[in-house]
Amino acid sequence: MIKVRFAPSPTGYLHIGSARTALFNWLYAKRYGGKFILRIEDTDKVRSEKRFLEEILTDLKWLGIDWDGEPLYQSERFDIYRDAAEKLVKSGKGYREGEAYIFKVEKGRAIEVDDMIHGKITVNTDDIKDQVMIKSDGSPTYNFCCVIDDAYLEITHIIRGDDHVSNTPKQILFYEALGLKIPAFGHMPLIMGQDGAKLSKRHGGTAVEEYRMDGYLPQALVNYLLLLGWSPGGDREIISLDEAVKLFDINDMKGVQAKFDLQKLTWMNGEYIAKSEDSDLLPLLKDRLIAIPGVGKTPSKDLLLKVISLYKVRIKKLSEFAGMTDHFFSDTYSTEVKGVEKYISTKEGKDILREFSSRLEKLDDFSHAKTEGACRAMAEETKLKAGAIIHPTRVAVSGKTTGAGLFEMMEVIGKDEVIERMKKAAG
Ligand code: GLU
Repeated sequence: MIKVRFAPSPTGYLHIGSARTALFNWLYAKRYGGKFILRIEDTDKVRSEKRFLEEILTDLKWLGIDWDGEPLYQSERFDIYRDAAEKLVKSGKGYREGEAYIFKVEKGRAIEVDDMIHGKITVNTDDIKDQVMIKSDGSPTYNFCCVIDDAYLEITHIIRGDDHVSNTPKQILFYEALGLKIPAFGHMPLIMGQDGAKLSKRHGGTAVEEYRMDGYLPQALVNYLLLLGWSPGGDREIISLDEAVKLFDINDMKGVQAKFDLQKLTWMNGEYIAKSEDSDLLPLLKDRLIAIPGVGKTPSKDLLLKVISLYKVRIKKLSEFAGMTDHFFSDTYSTEVKGVEKYISTKEGKDILREFSSRLEKLDDFSHAKTEGACRAMAEETKLKAGAIIHPTRVAVSGKTTGAGLFEMMEVIGKDEVIERMKKAAG
């Protein structure tokens, strides 16, 4: 059976690159009906923190990546690592240096790795120095306990980032010395920024949590991460995790570049938001909305759904929603100073608002079709362009120069409130 694992160190947040590693391992397991194991590499007792562990688990779940069974914690297995090191020393394959256990690397050998993604990689042991197994403080080194645990967990395929390519031959030496079965290895290209430099803050956030907070949908982030290392074929970009499970082939990871493009991810997020059900977006947007000043209380579900259906095609991130729609939920909404100056501080603007509001007042039916009709009729009679009526009205009613269609917006806000806002703006 295929068995893969994700092995984060809880010494920091979940990095976008690590999330991608987790995702591809998970995908590999699902594709072939295998198991996906979580191993917590918390050997560094000082730098490992519970809050990082919790955040990593939260982020994985948020992304829809679940694991089989309970995670394995390396911090609970120090005795096992020490025993293994002791054995190697006793059999002459290692030696002690004070408290530390060192592995003796036999020189003049070629170690071959048949990497699933890169193909053959050969390293001469002349280039590998003796390896520490257990440090003098009693903690194991990554390469040593990684091998012991991967063998213990019967991991068949190790898929990880290119930053571990140089560790693999060292790990193979440990497998050989301990008489353990060597798994298959595949190393994915590291995620780079558009400028070819290693992904950093400058290219956008590097922590999954930042994207979660900023209002990216997990489906969109997962879709985007899938494309950073794999291609479902052709020009296809939008693909769900379920479909990816059916189509995934590790051979398609060969030669794929992993250039991070924040704009593209944000575009993709917008596509996912637009396609979401209004009712699925509701719980996600509600909390963001009530957090903003002026709104405070929870708006009615009915109103929220109406506004979501008008705005979900206009936002690229959930975080944009509240600022764009506060005028539906509060009368202390934000206003664009420039828009006010341009459209409603002028005499012409005020005259238009007065005239249009008195026409609107006469309507019994405040549907968008009727208010739009009233606008067209006024434009015709006054020889004004429709835009000359629409712009000041939009600013008066919403405080903003852009947003959903004015007439749909007015229908949702309702007649009395619309008229009141227009009169107030007209002075
Ligand atoms: N804790 C290591 C890391 O996060 C695991 C590497 C591995 O997958 O072997 O880079």
